[in-house]
Amino acid sequence: MLQVKNIYFSYKDTPVLKNINFSIKQGEHLSIIGESGSGKSTLLKLIHGEYDLLKGDILWKDQEILGPKYNLVIGYDFMKYVAQEFELMPFISVEENIGKFLSNFYPNKKRKRIKELLDVVELNAFSKTKVKDLSGGQKQRVALARALAKEPEIILMDEPFSHIDSFKKQSLRRRLFNYLKEKKISCIVATHDKEDVLGYADTMLVLSDTKVLAYNTPQTLYNKPNNALIASFFNEYNIINNTIVYANELIITEEKSDIIAIVTQSYFKGYYYLIEAKINNDIIFFEAKSSIKKGAEIALKIIKNTL
Ligand code: ADP
Ligand code: MG
Repeated sequence: MLQVKNIYFSYKDTPVLKNINFSIKQGEHLSIIGESGSGKSTLLKLIHGEYDLLKGDILWKDQEILGPKYNLVIGYDFMKYVAQEFELMPFISVEENIGKFLSNFYPNKKRKRIKELLDVVELNAFSKTKVKDLSGGQKQRVALARALAKEPEIILMDEPFSHIDSFKKQSLRRRLFNYLKEKKISCIVATHDKEDVLGYADTMLVLSDTKVLAYNTPQTLYNKPNNALIASFFNEYNIINNTIVYANELIITEEKSDIIAIVTQSYFKGYYYLIEAKINNDIIFFEAKSSIKKGAEIALKIIKNTL
């Protein structure tokens, strides 16, 4: 379906992306992760055809995605892109924004479609509100609904929930990603939030230092992070005997142990406490059922619990 083949890109002299390769199938959900400045947004914009590649090809089915040098109007009908800074029409209503690109030829069909999209992004109550009167998170939801209006074959989303409060985020994410799966719309999501990935993404691409650091399923990368950057995306972690051990894989033991830590701080996390401690001068993290007094000496063991 979408094939990204050996692409290179730079805005000026310094390369931003080098030798990037991956592909996605119809209905597949790919997450692109990486630190701020690692090139996630640039990669989405390249796939959208906003810049010319230095090298390499991007193909959707048999069609080559061309940059502005070879394509007068940026973008293609089968692909929608929701930018980090969404651009909406402020002086018209939510429903008018969403219906902006839908044909007026079948008004009933149009109305039904807008209602369906308002359901997906949970904005029914605001259908008549002018966009300028919405919050940042509400605007972001309008932008998502508008991108879906004409059922693209693939949607590119740049940190799609970054402006949405945590009360709404979980249910919106479920609705949106389930909707895309149901309609077999391929999606690429640039994110730095593991909640956007776990439970939804089929594959994950990790960008670092202009390159693909890893490209695999979330399960494989979670279970075998083999790199501190990848581990840190999922959870607090430690490096013990040259192995990456998540905080939840280090547990208190009554048995004799080589791993003895002195507690420095306990953080309430809801259903557990994150404990910060020291082994010699190294800071480590583990999880416990209750808080632990500062200065306590704790024996720990490693339990790898992979699914
Ligand atoms: P991310 O989305 O992962 O935070 P970006 O793709 O926005 O990363 O940026 C990647 C790199 O390219 C950064 O070093 C950034 O400063 C640079 N960059 C982004 N946009 C432009 C631009 N329009 N002109 C020049 N450099 C840019
Ligand atoms: Mg970005």
